[in-house]
Amino acid sequence: MKSLPYFCRGEVVRGFGRGSKELGIPTANFPACVVEHLPADISTGIYYGWACVGNGDLHKMVMSIGWNPYYKNTKKSMETHVIHKFKEDFYGETLSVVMVGYIRPERSYDSLEALIAAINDDISEAKVQLERPEHLKLCDDNFFTGHSASSSTASSPPPSASPTFINGH
Ligand code: ADP
Ligand code: MG
Repeated sequence: MKSLPYFCRGEVVRGFGRGSKELGIPTANFPACVVEHLPADISTGIYYGWACVGNGDLHKMVMSIGWNPYYKNTKKSMETHVIHKFKEDFYGETLSVVMVGYIRPERSYDSLEALIAAINDDISEAKVQLERPEHLKLCDDNFFTGHSASSSTASSPPPSASPTFINGH
């Protein structure tokens, strides 16, 4: 996918209440305005990359891009599981991510156990892949380290929930 790595940020909004948290795998949802900016070549499926909440530390993440059941599967959703234990929820905070690589397409599962096992495999894969030097160096990108220099425009606003999209190429 030529749009990778793909940087974006936006406010964390409420999802569909599908109980991801109860499965031990909470997913922070992006609003429609972020999803609508996705380049056309970014297909649905599971991605890995880096994420930070507000001005917090950078963590590894896995992201699911799928068809949004709330809109009768006509719109996409982007849900990020940050591979870190947070003390509290962070609805309303700014989530900054870079999608780095693609793991697999969407799939349906016969059981909850099979789904959880697949997600845990994705998390293991993300952890390994992100140790590669070319992926580690994305952590030093201005997008994460100096928010003011992060936008594609010279006079970028200070960090806020305003969505930002930067194509890696
Ligand atoms: P929703 O349907 O509202 O997205 P989830 O059960 O998927 O509910 O939980 C997502 C929320 O959990 C996030 O919006 C965030 O506030 C919180 N959260 C806590 N820890 C994490 C984490 N490691 N990764 C993603 N979200 C997390
Ligand atoms: Mg969610």
